This record gives sequence, C-alpha cells and structure tokens, in this order.
Amino acid sequence: KMPLVDAKDPQALALGYVSDAAQADKAKYKNFVAGSHCANCALFQGQASDTEGGCPLFPGKHVAAKGWCSAWAKKA
Ligand code: SF4
Repeated sequence: KMPLVDAKDPQALALGYVSDAAQADKAKYKNFVAGSHCANCALFQGQASDTEGGCPLFPGKHVAAKGWCSAWAKKA
C-alpha cells in the first residue's frame, strides 16, 4: 500500500495539495472549481469509489480521493 501524500511535502506545498478539498486555499487558487477533488480529476489513478489512489504528480504515493491540488483537471 502506498503512503499518503503529506500536505507538508515540498511537492504538495508547491501544488497547494490538501487531503480535503474543503481546505484548498481558494484565495490563492482562484481557478478552484466547486466540487473538484482528486477522485474527479483526470489525473487520478483509481476508481471513483476509492478513498485514495495514485497521481502522476506524486510518484510512489497516494492522494486522498477527497483531496485537491492546483493541477486539478476535469475528468473527461
Ligand atoms: Fe489530485 Fe488531480 Fe492534483 Fe493529482 S493532479 S493531486 S489527482 S487534483
């Protein structure tokens, strides 16, 4: 099982990653889309029902399904 990304990891800080999208810095990231989170991001490597999954921006780790970062892109 992969370790979860810590919000204090350098890459997490660089991308504004948080394990709960509700905690996203919406003042800093004005492109925040309401309802966006890892599980509905195009980069999320998991099923919509998974609580965590891979993300190519965080190799070797898992992001929380309800997490968020500033690289979020709508899943097609
Ligand atoms: Fe989550 Fe998508 Fe950011 Fe990866 S790119 S951490 S799946 S929001």
